[in-house]
Amino acid sequence: MLVGSLVRAPLCAHKMGRVSISPASLPVNADLHCHSVVSDGTLTPEALAQRAQANGVQLWSLTDHDEIGGQQRACVAAHANGMDYLTGTEISVTFADNTVHIVGLGFDADNAQLQHGLALTRGGRGARAQEISRQLSEVGIHGAYEGALKYVGNPELISRTHFARHLVEIGECRDTSEVFRRYLTEGHPGFVPHRWASLVDAVRWIRDAGGMAVIAHPARYRFTANEEFALFSEFKRHGGEGVEVVTGSHTPAEYKIYTDMAHEFGLAASRGSDFHSPDESHTDLGTLPPLPQGLTPVWEKLVHRIQRRPA
Ligand code: AMP
Ligand code: MN
Ligand code: MN
Ligand code: MN
Repeated sequence: MLVGSLVRAPLCAHKMGRVSISPASLPVNADLHCHSVVSDGTLTPEALAQRAQANGVQLWSLTDHDEIGGQQRACVAAHANGMDYLTGTEISVTFADNTVHIVGLGFDADNAQLQHGLALTRGGRGARAQEISRQLSEVGIHGAYEGALKYVGNPELISRTHFARHLVEIGECRDTSEVFRRYLTEGHPGFVPHRWASLVDAVRWIRDAGGMAVIAHPARYRFTANEEFALFSEFKRHGGEGVEVVTGSHTPAEYKIYTDMAHEFGLAASRGSDFHSPDESHTDLGTLPPLPQGLTPVWEKLVHRIQRRPA
């Protein structure tokens, strides 16, 4: 029998509550965006938690793509390493014929609607991967599906990143960045257009589960100014509340641009490395600059959703 989320036990055995490490004068080292083997990262949730702690992270979130199967492990590992924890995910969304990522933070991971929505979003990945492989075989790269599978930690979550690792392994490219320049992206072999979740659904799943929706790395999208304005406006209208300002995907000039956008749209600001792998990621967990002054950090609005480390 389904029980309402309000009476469910919290994700970890520990109580949710106030952050203990956030005097206004001292910025919290929060890293609210990274990936584990449960999606397209190369480290386990436990190894990520250790690395985050070693880099000084105090408030952490694991945000695997379209998947929350690693949340329990991440929360336990966060607490074992003396960090506070927010539940997290990064939902793939199709908006204006482009892929946009929406991070969800602080939701109830037991919420059935969120779990169902994420399962639907993951659903097309297998067939898409077969088609990526077929296209690659047309340019002489055979067996890429099987090759990519060797890197997959979660059978429901085969992603372009796993293909990229395989193409590096077989010597087709020097690194994964080169793979994405020559393959898997629009206009190149192995690009398979895909319809992900809608913006309204992704925001609703997160909100209805008690969490906050956040636009991930907005500078990465190739939108016109009008399309970007539409994204922010519709996101806000559907109940979205945050935007990543300081992320591993942004330059300092882009921190400024999205600080202004956060003010213009009345959005809270998030900070996250988007760390995937020690070998591939330029930005390590917990190493980004603090949020610019004057922004409202997302964790201030999510204080009641934080799962505190044991005292
Ligand atoms: P997918 O969800 O299968 O479309 O894969 C998207 C993932 O591919 C992103 O989350 C990144 O981890 C990775 N990715 C996309 N573009 C690039 C790029 N230019 N360089 C490196 N990784 C990329
Ligand atoms: Mn990724
Ligand atoms: Mn992303
Ligand atoms: Mn990400």
